[in-house]
Amino acid sequence: MELYLPLAKDEKLKELGLERQNKVYYNGKLLTIEEYIREKLKDSDFWAVKIALEAIERAKKKNKDLITVRCANTPTGVLHIGNANDVIRAYFIAKVIDILGYNVRLVFTSDDRDPMRGFPSKIADKYGNIVDFKEKHEYEQKYDGFPVARIPDPFKCHSSWSEHFISIYFKEFELLGIIDNIRFEYYSPSILYNTGLWENLVKKALENKDKINEILREHKEHVREYPFSVICENCNRIGSTHVINYNPKTKEVEYICESRHLKKKTIQGCGYKGKTTIRNGKLDWYVEWAMDWAYFDTDVEPMGKDHYVSSWKISPKIAKEVFNIEPPIPVVYEFFTVDGKKMSGSKGNIYNLTEFLKIMEKEVVLYLYTKRPTTHRDIKMENIPSLVKEYDELEKKVLLHLSGENKIENEEIIVYYLTKGSIPKEIPKKIEYSTAAIIGQIVLPKEYLINTHLPIKFEEEVLERIKRAFDRINIPLKDYNLERLRKATYWAITYGPERVKIKPNYERITIPLDKNELQALEKIIEYLEKMKHYDMEEIQTSIHNIIKEHTDPKKFYPKLYKMLINKEQGPKIASLIIALGKEEIIKILSNYQKS
Ligand SMILES: [Zn+2]
Ligand SMILES: [Zn+2]
Repeated sequence: MELYLPLAKDEKLKELGLERQNKVYYNGKLLTIEEYIREKLKDSDFWAVKIALEAIERAKKKNKDLITVRCANTPTGVLHIGNANDVIRAYFIAKVIDILGYNVRLVFTSDDRDPMRGFPSKIADKYGNIVDFKEKHEYEQKYDGFPVARIPDPFKCHSSWSEHFISIYFKEFELLGIIDNIRFEYYSPSILYNTGLWENLVKKALENKDKINEILREHKEHVREYPFSVICENCNRIGSTHVINYNPKTKEVEYICESRHLKKKTIQGCGYKGKTTIRNGKLDWYVEWAMDWAYFDTDVEPMGKDHYVSSWKISPKIAKEVFNIEPPIPVVYEFFTVDGKKMSGSKGNIYNLTEFLKIMEKEVVLYLYTKRPTTHRDIKMENIPSLVKEYDELEKKVLLHLSGENKIENEEIIVYYLTKGSIPKEIPKKIEYSTAAIIGQIVLPKEYLINTHLPIKFEEEVLERIKRAFDRINIPLKDYNLERLRKATYWAITYGPERVKIKPNYERITIPLDKNELQALEKIIEYLEKMKHYDMEEIQTSIHNIIKEHTDPKKFYPKLYKMLINKEQGPKIASLIIALGKEEIIKILSNYQKS
């Protein structure tokens, strides 16, 4: 027996002899929500729980009192919803460890010393909105091969290219509720190298370069004299330098800036030869990854499939043989595609969390990442309403269960709690996303549909209009419904299929109607005049029956849509009636009563 007391019925409380309080009644005990979720976690197949338990075991064996889940992204441009797999998956694992009562931190590094290799055609402005990168060509001429932390911010609102994109990313994590919900630690490799915090580990790697090169050769990887690059003191490039000598006593390297082939692209150097400290450089990726694990004492790390099939075969060997550590537990995830296409900043096919937060509530965005990491996911922008509906149904199921009404899987409760971040004290009466998309197009002013991921103050007059539409279908004027109204409307006008885009048509246009069709029209008007309350299903069926009875629906529907919205197809007729109100609909249709 499980019962969340704020949701329980009065009789039930009386029967159990309990007072209404913020607790869950579970197997005869009163638990806080966290204690209750902890019980559920212990007996669950949820993927993040399995990994969390493995991490806890590992930490126990090593006698550690802090578990580290690490994630990283390279800020070479917009960090998109596919990149976010790293952080959000790591967050779920860390959160589960946290709920299970262990000390845990989520470490995020931003790989900001990585060289830039070509610039994207789309970037994000300081609000996170995706825009064209107009200076792409100029940047390519000037900054190719620069470490991302040394490239200027094209919008000049941050100190560098990498800081600009990382700031947007963090804002998104804040909106998702991640940063405030876990011990979140952010590290910049630029700073770790510069300040010498990584110096001893870099030394170790350089002293063991032969061992490293042997491992690389085994895997038929490209081998250089030293697996290290420095930032050229003459031209600022890091992607073009080679180390030719290392002096362990002075911790200095001699280097030459010539040219280097990096991922299908050759970075041209300036020819400069110099000597600099190892703090001014960066280990090659395979080695740096292993060093990361050593420095942060990483227990778990999510990684994209691309890394799993390549670097994961090499870096763990370097971790063991050079840094004498055990590599972390890997969590492999598949990528997201949108409308069947791989996301790519250079091709301009890109969606970031800001954009997704404009069309969905934060819990629905997080919900995308609760699915098994190894399943490839294609997100169809046209089908967003079904995704939201799926989440609404999950919410309803969980809350009904917690109010004592039905039984569900533990996993569903966990997924709901991890995405929502709390359990509401009442069952929300949400407007259906697809209905909201239609109503919003009629009642919301255009300026409400910009930056819908941020809160807005609704004007009285707009609220009045919304209330009238909501009242027709008994939807409360709550913040969550107003938020949904904006998001669903933004979705409809930006990504919705043609049939959901509407604009009421008050002008009479020429539509030839025969006798039977005129009769159907008259009956519809009669029906609407008599209609006492708005019920989507009922209206839809009644109108369909009237049409069927008098004429050919296939021919009549396009005409009906033409009258209402000057298009031959549209959303459910009932949703238009709810959005506009029957009086408006009657006014429009009466125009056509006499042909
Ligand atoms: Zn900026
Ligand atoms: Zn140079």
